[in-house]
Amino acid sequence: MVVTHLPKLHTHFFISTPAPSLYTHHLSLLRIPKSTLTTAAAATSSTTHPPPISTTDTHIQIPLQNLFVPPETDISATSTPLTARILKGSNIVLSKYANDAQVVQAEFVKSSVRTEDCPSDGLPEFALVGRSNVGKSSLLNSLVRRKRLALTSKKPGKTQCINHFRINDSWYLVDLPGYGYAAAPQELRTDWNKFTKDYFQSRSTLVSVFLLVDASIPAKKIDLEYASWLGENQIPMTLIFTKCDKRKKKKNGGKRPEENVEDFQGLIRDFFQTAPPWIMTSSVTNQGRDEILLHMAQLRNYWLKH
Ligand code: GDP
Repeated sequence: MVVTHLPKLHTHFFISTPAPSLYTHHLSLLRIPKSTLTTAAAATSSTTHPPPISTTDTHIQIPLQNLFVPPETDISATSTPLTARILKGSNIVLSKYANDAQVVQAEFVKSSVRTEDCPSDGLPEFALVGRSNVGKSSLLNSLVRRKRLALTSKKPGKTQCINHFRINDSWYLVDLPGYGYAAAPQELRTDWNKFTKDYFQSRSTLVSVFLLVDASIPAKKIDLEYASWLGENQIPMTLIFTKCDKRKKKKNGGKRPEENVEDFQGLIRDFFQTAPPWIMTSSVTNQGRDEILLHMAQLRNYWLKH
């Protein structure tokens, strides 16, 4: 079963404030605490309830209609304010399904060249995809806290494969071939498109594609094309913005990661009925690691239940 994005939120649930900066075209804004989770341990706890939360004095602003609210999440509940239920550095609201997020075991299972050859045990999976050099292997290693697990995907002969890693014996992280590698022959690139798109469209256990986008540089056409293709084909997608620790404006085309993240969303907005979830990450500082795992947990647990 596929977890679809929810219908647009109704803005009357929320606080309205004047638009000060990047979101001037939106009327309704919500002040989102930059830090919403108390500790990393809390973020990956295995209780059946969302972890404890705290707020800080720094804020980023997200328009209300751009929040991602997981299925069966009541945003009008008053026990915990909505502002404190947004995962740090993301637009994702924490849901009651965010349990068992921690990775305790990870193992490489197999490399497949066709969707039909992928594991057939029915476990839910998340596919990581992105431009070559976007930081996919680094992120995979950071998620499983293993320095070299993703090296498997970089071995000769495996770079063009669908590589399955089983986590906690209960779900898969799937490493897909990087795209946009200039040195790859055109023929190979075309094949890659066919093969990956077939996987996206026919893999019934795929819960969400995680599209990695480098936030340290301005949006690339090829990333926008992939994001819009996923949107148009209604493949559930989460945007993972990588390299958010790289903050040198001059080097990075004059913009900070936050600005590139904002620009990217603006450029793909028309291809999605509702705002896709997004998370800012860095494999250098581990920013976003716990948030990705919590997001995966709540999508996965919902998927398993339905
Ligand atoms: P892949 O080709 O997508 O698997 O990318 P890699 O994980 O091999 O990373 C490509 C390059 O980007 C390497 O030099 C990494 O050290 C660097 N890199 C990856 N993630 C980050 C990050 O979060 N921050 C910074 N500053 N560099 C990163």
